[in-house]
Parts: sequence; structure tokens; C-alpha cells
Amino acid sequence: MGTPLKVLFVEDSEVDAELTLVELERGGFEPSSDQVQTLEEMRSALGDQQWDVVICDYKMPRFTAEEALTTLQHSGQDLPFIITSGAVSAEDVVSLLKQGAHDFMDKRALARLVPAIERELREAEMRRSQREAQERVRILSRALEQSPVAVLITNPDACIEYVNPRFEEQSGYSAAEAIGQNVGFTLQDERSDETLAQLWATVRNGQEWHGEFTSRTQKGQLIWEHVTVSPLTDSQEIITHFIVIKEDITIRRSYEEQLLRQAHYDELTGLANRVLLIDRLQLAINNNEREVCQAAVLGIDLDHFKNVNDSLGHSIGDNLLKEAADRLAKCVRGGDTLARMGGDEFIVLLPSLKNPRDAQIVAEKILRQFEQPFVIFGRNYFVTASIGIALYPNDGANPHLLMRNADLAMYQAKEQGRNGYHFFTEDINVQLLERLELESQLRFVVERNELLLHYQPIYDLESVQVVGYEALVRWRRDRDTLTMPGVFIPLAEDIGIIHEIDSWVLRTACRELRDIIQNHGMRLAVNISARQLDVENYAQYVAEQLELNQLQPDQVELEITERVLVEDTDNTQENLQALCEMGIRLSIDDFGTGYSSLGYLQRYPFKTLKIDRSFVSNIAQEGGSGSLIETIITLAHGLNLDVVAEGIEREEEMIFLQSLGCDYAQGFMLDKPMTLRKIQLILAQEEGSKS
Ligand code: C2E
Ligand code: MG
Ligand code: MG
Repeated sequence: MGTPLKVLFVEDSEVDAELTLVELERGGFEPSSDQVQTLEEMRSALGDQQWDVVICDYKMPRFTAEEALTTLQHSGQDLPFIITSGAVSAEDVVSLLKQGAHDFMDKRALARLVPAIERELREAEMRRSQREAQERVRILSRALEQSPVAVLITNPDACIEYVNPRFEEQSGYSAAEAIGQNVGFTLQDERSDETLAQLWATVRNGQEWHGEFTSRTQKGQLIWEHVTVSPLTDSQEIITHFIVIKEDITIRRSYEEQLLRQAHYDELTGLANRVLLIDRLQLAINNNEREVCQAAVLGIDLDHFKNVNDSLGHSIGDNLLKEAADRLAKCVRGGDTLARMGGDEFIVLLPSLKNPRDAQIVAEKILRQFEQPFVIFGRNYFVTASIGIALYPNDGANPHLLMRNADLAMYQAKEQGRNGYHFFTEDINVQLLERLELESQLRFVVERNELLLHYQPIYDLESVQVVGYEALVRWRRDRDTLTMPGVFIPLAEDIGIIHEIDSWVLRTACRELRDIIQNHGMRLAVNISARQLDVENYAQYVAEQLELNQLQPDQVELEITERVLVEDTDNTQENLQALCEMGIRLSIDDFGTGYSSLGYLQRYPFKTLKIDRSFVSNIAQEGGSGSLIETIITLAHGLNLDVVAEGIEREEEMIFLQSLGCDYAQGFMLDKPMTLRKIQLILAQEEGSKS
């Protein structure tokens, strides 16, 4: 099978055309053809079909070879145009070749035709692919010119040969200024040579390199660029150019930096935050593993900051925190980290200590910083600090453990009177574990029915007769241990389950003591946490218990311990109001140990004041609290309050209190707290002896 060939004959002689076809077939082509004799015919033939070659007779009656050539050229098709003829002058042939005809052939010697066509087809094909390549280049270069990212092309020595307009815009340098320079001419020199070395090693190896650089624009402005460098190779895989693409990522970068800052720094003080601290702590641990050094974590908490914040407002609180941060900053050195953990908690990390005493020195320095008052609106506020110190590796192998232990030690410092520091010890840890265990058991104390009540009689001091009982809760944790309320009540308050316990106590005490109250004209006193008053409808709950047990409101007294300040919430107000209207007696417990003044007592509807045991127990001593108690009793009576003295252990205490006109008393000397059974026995005995 021959090569298909579509031939357009521009020819008046069919015979000549036939002869040519024979020649082509002989030469291995399989031609198909059409023959045109006029300009119009040629035009439409070119328009209708695809041709491989035009073979044109030089002499035709109706139009000339020259016209045929122009027609072809106007059609925009790049086809081999071969002229055949009998006799023709050399000048004419040359003129036609000059105009673009491809070859000339004598009709009488067509042997050259086939190789000529073959050559022309090859050349036409080459011209076509060249045209395509040119078109591609044109598109590519237009893409480069209009690219939204900066593009540079360099020679293998990184010398710039081309920059696109976007580069000029981005860098401020014109193409003329850039061309001939080294590609790195806009880079900030602080960029390490190491990165550049790595860049060139990668691209010279034929691979692409990506990375970020800071560049300086022609005006001196710093910008962040994401840079891609790719090598360009020729057919022998030899690098001829590098293409460098630079994307301006300054906006993204500064956004990221802002995020990074927000993620790592405390907004108020500008100090490191928890995230950064943990990071640095981990780093210190990693380094110290190698260097056999110690690291110290100092947990710092401002004492009574909450008071300032609550009474003076948050913006003043914030200012105080800022100043505190400044003072703390004076105590640390370059390699140390000072962080704010939130609220009034700070941490100082000393990453490599030769001697743990150095941590102590820093702690002392910090305490000294807080000796000076904070001056707010011309007034002095003394805010001290409590510090807990945990050391790596002894007190913990990871950041969280170290921070927790520093925290525990800090609480220890607070317990020891604040304004001091305390090293973490294993004892603290043991205490914590105990507390955690206690806490988890405590949660189910009501559910598991592990609570029980003892009752301590309350005596009328004039008649020295029992007039009532105070219910005191105990927790049977296991068969042989009775845990006292001093241990678990504060904890129950902390973990938010005091409500359950106090409700159980009220319910149980009313039920257990109902008969005794009714039959013997006694009163029941029940302790409640101040938090109980904040429980919605608590007064209603009390009323329900009274009704259930047919008790009168004045037969029940609620003791609210004075250590916890009664907060002025809506619920508290409503409960106090309702309880008071009901006629329930309210008593302030442990008076003298907490916050309340007598003025405070006046504001709330209290009926009774209980003087704390600590005052009673040193009445008799020289310079003791005798006169203080006297004052309290006088004032209390002035406010129409009954006074109960707690914790009478000695005869002389009782006599003294009697002499002051104290109304009631409790104490081991009179009676210890006892079980219901025991009360019943005693009362039965008394009944018996009466009759
Ligand atoms: P409180 O209400 O002031 O109770 C008096 C505490 O002093 C009782 O301790 C009692 O056993 C003890 N006591 C009484 N007389 C003497 C004495 O002569 N000498 C000594 N050394 N101690 C005496 P207890 O039972 O350990 O209760 C401690 C505190 O726990 C109570 O102090 C009260 O604030 C709280 N509490 C007890 N039961 C409850 C309760 O059901 N709910 C709430 N919220 N708190 C309770
Ligand atoms: Mg009490
Ligand atoms: Mg008390």
C-alpha cells in the first residue's frame, strides 16, 4: 500500500494530470486528486478539503501560476506548491520561487517529482511543527508576562536573564536593573548561607526546591516570599536555566505570626503563656537529660488578688497584674521563662540550675519584689505572693507533673500563712493522693448511706438544763473509721456536693429528733453551709421537712458558719427572707473567726450568735479573751441576739460565762456529741427518776 496523498491539480490538461498521477503511483504514493481550472474553483477546493500538495501548471488559459500561488497563500494553508510546465523562462521560474513556490518541474522530466514531493512534505511538516512550537512559546511567554507570581529565569550560574512584570512590581526593581544580577540579590543577608547552599545542592541535582525567604524591596521594605526554584534541562539533561518563582506571602506570614503570638503569649502581660511554657519546659528537660543539670519550676500565686479584683474592678485588677508581671520580670534572667498561666498565677522556669539553692534565691527575690505596695488611685495595696518550687528531675519527669507539684507546694506555702515559698515534698503528694481518694469516696456518701448524726446537747446556762441539740454529721468511711466533718465538709463544699449532705442532715435530724423535740420541748440546731442559702427554693425544702415531721419553725435553728461569707445573691436574699418569714431561727456559728462584723449580723435576720470555742478556751488566761467575750455578749444582747458559747471544757469557763449573762452553752464539760440512742436512754432515765 502506498502513502496516501491528496493532490490538487491546477491544470487545464487532464492528460497531464493523469500522467502526473501515474508518476506518483509509481513513486509509491496512493494519490487521490481533484483538478481545478479557475480561480474560483481553486478557492472552493482549498476551502472544502485538506490537501497535501498543489501541483500547478505554469500555462493555463484562464489564470496564471502566479495567481494560483497567491490564492494558496491567501487561503492561509502552508502546502507544497509545485509548478510543472513545458517550456518556461528561467526568470519566470525564479520569480515564482521567490514569491513562495516550492519547486519547479518540467512536464517532460517528472522523475524528480516524487523525491521533490517527499522533501516538500517533510519540510511542510517541519514548518508546521515549528509554527506550533512558536505558538506554544508565544503562549508561554504571555503566561509568564501576565503571571500573578514573580518569575525569574537565570542561567546555570544563577545570573538573572529574565524577570516578568510581576517581579518588577513585587520587588520594585525594573527588568533592566535585575537582569545580570545574581538571583539572590534581593535576599536579606540574615538568611543563612546554609539554606542557600542546600537550595543550590537540590536544584543542581535536578530537583525542585521550595522554601521561604525574606527579601528587601527596592524601597527597602521587607517582604516574605515563598520561593520555588526548578532546573530547566535540555535534551541531554544538562541544566540550561533555572526558573525561580516567588510568591509574596507577607500578608499570610504576618497573619501566621500574629496567630503564633496569640498562641504563645499572654495578651494582657505579654508574657509567655501556658503553651509556650510547656514547650520551654520540655526543652529544658530534654537538654538536662544530656547535661545532668536541674531545672526549677516556681509556681507563683498572688495572695488575696481576688479581693482587689472583686472590690476594685477588673480593669484595676488587670493593671495590677501587669505591674506584678513587671516586678516578676526583674527577678529572672535571659534564659529563664516567665509565664502567666491565667488569673493571678505565674510560673518562672529556671531551665538549668547548678544548685537547687538558686531556686530559693529567686523565690526570695520575688518575695522582696512584693514587699512594696501597689499604688492604685493614691492608695496602697499590699499584694504578696506565695511560691511553690518543684525541681526536675526529683519532683517530676514531665512538664505537667512539675507544674502540678509546684502548684501543690504553692498551696502549702499559702497554708503556712502566705507571702512565702515552699519546696515540693513527697508528703504534699501523699496528702494530695489522700485528698483525691477522699474526694472520690465522698461523692457517693449519701447514695451509699454512709453518713450518720451525733447530737450535742445545748444547755441553758441559767438553769443548766438541756434545751436543744445540735446535729453534727459524721462519715462512716469504713467499718472502723468515723471521719469528722472538719475533714470532709470543706471538701464537700469544694467539689460542690455540700447541698446533698446538708439536705440529708436536715432531713435525717428532723426525722430522728422529732419525738424528742415534741415530747420534751427541745430545739434542734442544724449546721448548714453558707452555700446552701444560694440553692434555689432551699427555704421551701426546709418548710417541707418541718411539715413532714410536724415541727414548728421556731423549734429548728439553722447554723451558718461565719467563716464563709454569705454572698448577696438573689437566691440567698430570697431564702433568708423566706426562712425568716417562716419563723425559722438563724444562727451565726463560730463567731469571731471569720469576716462578719456585728453590722453584718444586723443586716441579716439572725437570732443567735455562737461564740467560737477558741475564745472560750482562753477566757481564764491572763490577757485572754474574757473582755472580748464580754463585749460580744453585750453587743449581741443589744441587737436582740441570744448568745451560745461553744466548747466549754472547764468549770471556770462556765462560771465566767454565766456571770456575763451568756444564754446558752455547749461543750465537752457539759456533754460530748452523742448518738440518738444515748439521748433516748438519758431522757428515759430522767423520766424514770422523775416518776
Ligand atoms: P460547729 O458547728 O462549731 O460544731 C462544734 C464543733 O465543736 C463540733 O465538732 C463539736 O464536736 C466540737 N465541740 C463541741 N464542744 C467541744 C469542746 O468542749 N471541746 C472541743 N475540743 N470540741 C468541741 P465537729 O462535730 O467535728 O464539727 C465540726 C464542724 O463541722 C462544725 O462546727 C460545723 O461547722 C461543721 N459541721 C458539722 N456537721 C455539719 C453539717 O451537717 N453540715 C455542715 N455544713 N457543717 C457541719
Ligand atoms: Mg454548729
Ligand atoms: Mg461552732
